[in-house]
Amino acid sequence: FDDRDGWIWLDGQFVAWRDAKVHVLTHGLHYASSVFEGERMYGGEIFKLTEHTERLFKSAEILDFKIPYTVEQIDEACKATAAKNGLTDCYVRPIAWRGSEMIGVSAQQTKIHVAIAVWEWPSYFDPATKAKGIRLTWAKYDRPAPNTIPTAAKAAGLYMICTISKHAAEKDGYADAMMVDYRGYIAEATGANVFFVKDGVLHTPVPDCILNGITRQTVIQIAKARGIQVVERHIEKRELADFTECFIVGTAAEVTPVSEIGEFKFTPAALSLSLMDEYARLVRRELVAA
Ligand code: PMP
Repeated sequence: FDDRDGWIWLDGQFVAWRDAKVHVLTHGLHYASSVFEGERMYGGEIFKLTEHTERLFKSAEILDFKIPYTVEQIDEACKATAAKNGLTDCYVRPIAWRGSEMIGVSAQQTKIHVAIAVWEWPSYFDPATKAKGIRLTWAKYDRPAPNTIPTAAKAAGLYMICTISKHAAEKDGYADAMMVDYRGYIAEATGANVFFVKDGVLHTPVPDCILNGITRQTVIQIAKARGIQVVERHIEKRELADFTECFIVGTAAEVTPVSEIGEFKFTPAALSLSLMDEYARLVRRELVAA
């Protein structure tokens, strides 16, 4: 993904895509002192841009480093990077990390770097696949406890178990893997939150050790504005037998219905499909804010 045309914002300057490199002794590479975001620009506007930038700053603070810019500067830099690359519909990836000035667990004196890359990344799945629902298996690793690793941060270190689990799922022909948490409750997919439907009511895990996704919060708002009841609670694995619909949500995944999680089967129906459609219209500003 490094050998292509385009521009990447790196520490305040635009550099050619191929030249946006870091040193092999980068602290972020060795010790995972790296936090990032994933955003989508739709029709020239980044959906919930400031919320994402604020989460980036919060993630950095949790990892004990300070991003050397303001939220406004990063917001502007995200928009400028899309413009510089001539894109109005794209994925936006800001990332901040400790540099290579020092190596070792202690790295107080490292410089904090920030980069922003944008690229075309259409919906993960085509509309027909989405409407049928994707197949998930169970992840190999559990989402850890918040006193084991800072689970509220969108930090590189938390994705190690996601990549391992997603690769294992893909090898077995599944689209993704569902993680349970350290207590055995349903947690999240490797890059998306999850919702279930029973008797017209939405049920979703409490974000106490999972990422409280911006899409998750948006879908809750849309549902509530439509008079749909949303219950945030701990969900046990065996309860999946009682749910009729299931969908995952995230910036990249948007709203994607699920037909299967391991031994449990679901049928995408009216509620999932209408939320999928309303989310798509909201991000394109065809629907007034939820
Ligand atoms: N959980 C995980 C593990 C994720 O990586 C993501 C994607 N950032 C989400 C949930 C969904 O978050 P958001 O809706 O803010 O993209």
